[in-house]
Amino acid sequence: MKATRMQEQAQAERQCHDAHLQQVDFDLSPFTIAWEVTRACALVCRHCRAEAQPQRDPRELTTEEGFALLDDIKDFGNPILIFTGGDPLMRRDLFDLIAYASQEKGLRTSLTPTATALVTRKRLQQAKEAGIRRVAISLDGPTAEVHDAFRGFSGSFARTLRILAHLNEVGLSLQINTTVCRYNLAVLEQMPEIVARFGAVQWSVFFLVPTGRGKLEDLISPEEHERVLNWLYDLSQEAPFDIKATACPHYRRVVIQRERARRRVEEREDEPSPVLLAGAGFQYADGLHRPVKGVNDGRGFCFVSHLGEVCPSGFLPLAAGNVREQSIVSIYRDSRLFRELRDPSLLKGKCGRCEFREVCGGSRARAYAVTGDYLESDPYCLYLPPSPHPYPPRKDAPKGTEPKLDRKLR
Ligand code: SF4
Repeated sequence: MKATRMQEQAQAERQCHDAHLQQVDFDLSPFTIAWEVTRACALVCRHCRAEAQPQRDPRELTTEEGFALLDDIKDFGNPILIFTGGDPLMRRDLFDLIAYASQEKGLRTSLTPTATALVTRKRLQQAKEAGIRRVAISLDGPTAEVHDAFRGFSGSFARTLRILAHLNEVGLSLQINTTVCRYNLAVLEQMPEIVARFGAVQWSVFFLVPTGRGKLEDLISPEEHERVLNWLYDLSQEAPFDIKATACPHYRRVVIQRERARRRVEEREDEPSPVLLAGAGFQYADGLHRPVKGVNDGRGFCFVSHLGEVCPSGFLPLAAGNVREQSIVSIYRDSRLFRELRDPSLLKGKCGRCEFREVCGGSRARAYAVTGDYLESDPYCLYLPPSPHPYPPRKDAPKGTEPKLDRKLR
């Protein structure tokens, strides 16, 4: 697969992102913030975490509240801001918000529109002029049959391909998002050709979290997770686009293990040279006692709902506060929920004693969705940390002092 000029530019941008990731202190600032500007959407996707509705909620943050939120976000420094939904294009003030974030505040912004008739070439051009740096489009299968069944809308596949072509014409950096579940597992290997054909700079592979309309029975098994993650690692060796595993931080563990194994063979040593790795959302220096970093729910990432509630991610729908009452900065830095999620020593079970817990830590969203406890192990990781474990097991908190959740999202 040959890299396009856009993909080559993206590599330079990634180096810039990697440098930023290294500098940012996750206790003080998220690396990425997703703002669900509306929950309204014309589609009824099978796995929608937001359970999107056809109409806008009258309680959504207003334009003025949105500007105030963007002012507060700038206080973090320079995080990446994703305008998401629902379908963000259902908001008439979207381009004003983007322009304020990008041009007035200097934030790096991206957009995740739904593939509907609202996404015209003209609107994509407007988004670019307002300051959007990247657009992410969902494509959940390589054929109309698979994708349309997912999206609950016949013709969605054809429309999505038209939007991808428009993005190429407008010259916007493109990311393709695919949610892996049992409905598309068998055809996943056909996806990279499409991702490459449209010159996407990143393929973001989402692993289903059973929240919203996502169902537990639709998840692939832990063994299938492992198989897909290893396949992604192999693909990353030759693909002209970056690969990101979303809601599956144990992809980082697989990358590190595979790199170690490769070096062991190449160097013919039992103790291969240290692995220095940087990927989408993580950095790892194996054996050099350098700090490792991995973005996870509430740790380098946060999510603002259409009502202003601040959550660790869109897949972990627990609100630690509301931007209508409190600054997002203090919610992210000081709330108990976020502080706990940033402390790997609080992780339970095998994630708590895993040597990869700093760079991985398991999907906190999936742990919560499946077990009801956001500090439990990720039940869909196959890895068993060696015993004796390198970290002391966490002592259970005395009765009555267990973490109290602020509240569930409405
Ligand atoms: S056991 Fe937990 S921390 Fe370790 S690799 Fe698996 S998910 Fe990550």
